[in-house]
Amino acid sequence: MLKTAGDRPYRGRLAPTPTGRLHLGHAATFLRAQERCQAADGTLIFRNEDLDPQRCRPEYAQDALDDLRWLGLRWSEGPDCGGPCGPYNQSERQPYYLEAWAKLRDAGVIYPCTRSRRELRERVAAPHEEDEEAEPLYPPEWRPAPGTGQDAQEPGEVNWRFRVPDGERISFEDELAGKQSFTAGQNFGDFLIWRRDGVPAYELSVVVDDLAMAITEVVRGADLIKSTARQLLIYRVLGAELTPRFAHCPLIRDEQGKRLAKRSDALSLRTLRERGLSPRQVQDMAR
Ligand code: GLU
Repeated sequence: MLKTAGDRPYRGRLAPTPTGRLHLGHAATFLRAQERCQAADGTLIFRNEDLDPQRCRPEYAQDALDDLRWLGLRWSEGPDCGGPCGPYNQSERQPYYLEAWAKLRDAGVIYPCTRSRRELRERVAAPHEEDEEAEPLYPPEWRPAPGTGQDAQEPGEVNWRFRVPDGERISFEDELAGKQSFTAGQNFGDFLIWRRDGVPAYELSVVVDDLAMAITEVVRGADLIKSTARQLLIYRVLGAELTPRFAHCPLIRDEQGKRLAKRSDALSLRTLRERGLSPRQVQDMAR
């Protein structure tokens, strides 16, 4: 596959999505990101992943900045302090995503898809994976003929998917989780690149921004480990010379063994803070 960041100066990022309050799991990942960045004498960037207008709220974005600063995190580029790779709010970066969409279209690796999520769910039985987030594999027979959509001038009101190279193994060495390997068409199928409501999908926006912001190491939760395989496919088509290194952190679970979610407020940083815990205590809980 592609070469990783090599010896470029370390640039890491904190990239929360403002759909709710951050919790102890985010704290654990972000503290790890800061430690790794400091150990490499690098630069840490705050990127607000506020693309989804239905689910994101400006007040959560503000809370994230406040709560993380309270916890002891410091960044030198971000929506609150600017920097050379701005804007740092994804909602202000649409031209970059459109440019990438056009590159993928020209390369013939994406196609417009008129199937709804519901159709997909009904068509495919629940996948046999332990993975809580497992999504159904997009049926290859639903793919349109190669070349479909290549004359589109803009994404329009339709979903776009990446046509994965069936059978190709995507491998990478994770800095924390070790060697990883996924097979396109088996572990994941054609995935969303662009939504019909005009919002670029996570896989696309994150690659575009990690490239544009010259990120050399991505530290994030292990729930996104399979996404890295998808993202490596995008890096390749976008012609990236180097990809970041990846470090996926183990997820924190609650007493029932379920992963923490923004909807469970009990361990949100804000709640812990309001209960009078000190940043130090919360840091210890997150470790
Ligand atoms: N914004 C994503 C999240 O909050 C993380 C994206 C990433 O680190 O790649 O889940």
